Amino acid sequence: IHENLAAKKIIKRREFDPKWRYVFTALFIAMSFASSQLVFEIFSVTGIVSRFVIYGYFHAIWFALFVLLVEIFYSRRGWCRYVCPIGATYSLLTRTNAVKVSWNKDRCDHCLVCIDTCLVPHVLEITKKNAKLDGDENKKEFRLVGGDCTLCGRCIDVCHHDALKFDNGFKKLI
Ligand code: SF4
Ligand code: SF4
Repeated sequence: IHENLAAKKIIKRREFDPKWRYVFTALFIAMSFASSQLVFEIFSVTGIVSRFVIYGYFHAIWFALFVLLVEIFYSRRGWCRYVCPIGATYSLLTRTNAVKVSWNKDRCDHCLVCIDTCLVPHVLEITKKNAKLDGDENKKEFRLVGGDCTLCGRCIDVCHHDALKFDNGFKKLI
């Protein structure tokens, strides 16, 4: 819905720095230490909706609906991308994944279809023309290092030049 409204220019697309999740994570941890309560569980949208489905109505469901409206009309996936400590933790853990998506610079024509398809488009920034690339000039293959990639494979499916593929880091060890 957000994408359709934005395409019709009824609402604006708003993006923020994903590092905000780490600030919120620190805040939730600090509040838990201070209160001896699992503070995030009070606000966790998935927790609220699960309890609503199992136990029926309680007031916190209005908070989940509020988050949904924010995500539709203000910032797509705003809760997941900028607030949720679960996403932040996964993001830290998956940085060391053996399997990553790799991008071949020479095959890419920078059409950016992959970025349009990805639910966490900042991890594909590398595919933009004139993006800053780490490593030597002659390097062709780059692994996507962003921890937010869920390895869903959508970008691989849509790339018309096969510039993206799964890359198993274990193979290099064998
Ligand atoms: S879809 Fe493929 S060719 Fe297009 S920008 Fe992405 S990697 Fe490059
Ligand atoms: S595999 Fe999925 S999450 Fe990862 S970069 Fe591609 S589209 Fe995005």
